[in-house]
Amino acid sequence: MPMGVNHVSFKDLSTTQQELVFSAQKVMSKAYNIYSDYFVGASVRTKKGGIYSSANMENSSYGLSICAEVGAIQQAISSGDPEITTIAVCGGFNSENKGKTPTPCGRCRQLIYESSQISSIDLEVICANSDLSGIIITKISDLLPLPFGSKDLHLDLKIKEIKKRIKKSK
Ligand SMILES: [Zn+2]
Repeated sequence: MPMGVNHVSFKDLSTTQQELVFSAQKVMSKAYNIYSDYFVGASVRTKKGGIYSSANMENSSYGLSICAEVGAIQQAISSGDPEITTIAVCGGFNSENKGKTPTPCGRCRQLIYESSQISSIDLEVICANSDLSGIIITKISDLLPLPFGSKDLHLDLKIKEIKKRIKKSK
């Protein structure tokens, strides 16, 4: 297991971390999950203190299913508040399930990494099972080692330009 992956109790979390996990747990119940019966809620917190949430949305063409993390990040972007500092992910087959703590899928790790480049922060990732009995705190750099991102394409300046445009559009 990577160095920066810590298994903790819910009570060990700070108030702001607990708030974000509760938010992810709450939105889980909105999942459109007729194919897997698996509920996932994700909530992101931004530098400005905004919280954006989403549940998973499945599709009859299985590969088109949308993860909760995707929806939450998209909501922050669409709200003009793209600088995410933390993401909480909560999931399980039902609210009483004490099952394994879910972690973001490979695609979501890449999307979270993109967000970390926007906010210039090694994003904190808090994962919780549905009854909050199993919590993992880690960073995107631990979930996605040796990443490929906008910096590799020399696009740091473009991110700055986009952030300026978003600021102006308010
Ligand atoms: Zn995913």
